[in-house]
Amino acid sequence: MSNEDFALHGNTALVTGGGRGIGLNIARALAEHGAEVVIGEIDEENGKLAAEQVGGEFVHLDVTDSSRVAEVVRDVVDERGSLDVSVHNAGMVRNENAEDTTDESWRDVLRLNLDGVFYCCREVGKAMLDQGRGSIVNIASMSGMVSNHPQAQVSYNTSKAGVITMTKSLAGEWADRGVRVNAISPGYIGTDLLQGVQRTQPEWYSSWLEQTPMGRVGKPSELGPLAVYLASNASSFMTGSNVVIDGGFTSW
Ligand code: NDP
Repeated sequence: MSNEDFALHGNTALVTGGGRGIGLNIARALAEHGAEVVIGEIDEENGKLAAEQVGGEFVHLDVTDSSRVAEVVRDVVDERGSLDVSVHNAGMVRNENAEDTTDESWRDVLRLNLDGVFYCCREVGKAMLDQGRGSIVNIASMSGMVSNHPQAQVSYNTSKAGVITMTKSLAGEWADRGVRVNAISPGYIGTDLLQGVQRTQPEWYSSWLEQTPMGRVGKPSELGPLAVYLASNASSFMTGSNVVIDGGFTSW
């Protein structure tokens, strides 16, 4: 194993929801390792800014629109010759008790966090199977593995458990055809998404810090190296893995 195994030169990488937070930091890390990055983002302003920052391209993408997902994947492959790495990061959270969760709210979260990841995996997977190679990285969450008191996020936790299972299912289907599928399950990471919870549920935030052995939340930049590892040849024997990065939260 050499540094070359982590290099992504000649690779095209799509990052969904790459306009800010974890997605932006992963896009930056992939670009720093040589990938040509395409930011697929619903927010045009953030997406364009992010693409500028990482020296990549912005494409307008709502991952809940399956035909748009298919179109973006087709365009990337047509224009660049291949799609080698795809990071499915776009996601949202609703902080609400199960008994107050409306049908609409439940569907909103599942539509983005689960349907959106599936549409991306399916369309990207088809392109990668045609190429006979590729690496997919799905951003799940430790919340898909543990129900962390006192939070009330049943739709979010359910969607992320689905992403972990989806990752394993697809990895099994595609393992002998050159396409690897892995998941990253972050613990609490200091992005806008988390700051929203800190503002509205400060008591949850303090409780999470107490339950994290490292006593802090992660930095979005701490996700980048792991994404590079999973994207690159350095992880060539890994597929179907769910890699937890949580300051020790789930180790109790
Ligand atoms: P942010 O809310 O900071 O960023 C999410 C990005 O996704 C935003 O740019 C958002 O755009 C974009 N987005 C929203 N909807 C869509 C859509 N339909 N199509 C394309 N892009 C969309 O989230 P984080 O960076 O914190 O989280 C990124 C991922 O990591 C999520 O899947 C999240 O669940 C997961 N995660 C985060 C943790 C944390 O503590 N922060 C912990 C564990 C997992 P817009 O600006 O318009 O909202």
